[in-house]
Amino acid sequence: MKVSVLASGSRGNAILLRSGRHSLLMDCGISVRKLKIRLEQMGEELPRLEAIFVSHEHTDHTCGLEHLCEKMPAPVFATEGTWEKMSALNLDAKEKLRCGDKIKLKGFVVQAFRVPHDANEPVGFLIEAEEKKMALVTDLGSVNGLIRERLKGANLVILESNHDPELLRNGRYPWPLKQRILGKYGHLSNQDCASLLTGIQSCGLSWAVLAHLSDDNNTPELAFQTSRELLGGQVKLFLTSQKQAGPKLEI
Ligand SMILES: [Zn+2]
Ligand SMILES: [Zn+2]
Repeated sequence: MKVSVLASGSRGNAILLRSGRHSLLMDCGISVRKLKIRLEQMGEELPRLEAIFVSHEHTDHTCGLEHLCEKMPAPVFATEGTWEKMSALNLDAKEKLRCGDKIKLKGFVVQAFRVPHDANEPVGFLIEAEEKKMALVTDLGSVNGLIRERLKGANLVILESNHDPELLRNGRYPWPLKQRILGKYGHLSNQDCASLLTGIQSCGLSWAVLAHLSDDNNTPELAFQTSRELLGGQVKLFLTSQKQAGPKLEI
């Protein structure tokens, strides 16, 4: 399975997955133009998509959906709660995603699970293909037993490492926004990300990708160091950035 992170962060998210001739897009929070530019930077072209999966309704995960589906029709999967909030979107093929169901698509198996975040029915994803398993969880305020269980056994985990709590507390954001981010339904800190990864590393984890980093309340160095210090050397660690595509991995 080939995994290309095209954008990650509060200004847009999109990840392309390929298995053989088939492709899925996970979230579409950037424009079609940007999607193409980012793919070009990675030496790829926009493939025909078997489906698009949406984690939740926030615009940094959905703003490019309508235009992309106009240009290139594909079924869009989201939970009922997410569709309630996206009812205004003009899409041809709205597919309902239920947590726990295994959706089989051209060699991929995709399963959604609930995550605590301040959206209507937000989810993370487990994706299996070519006998490999990956988890994708951005936008979550806290970690619970279900999430830990779901991530166990994943060979690759793409996980939010949003902020450093000290930088956030001392930063320029207004207090209510700081509280929202720090809260149970906000975004995950570097420390919480690192300890979740550490807890599952003995269950087959080979690659970890730190995602959805805050531009204001984090630095790539801090996010990387926090996880690197806790994780054993056998887990390869990667950073994502809002400003450029990457990493591109084959698992
Ligand atoms: Zn987001
Ligand atoms: Zn969100």
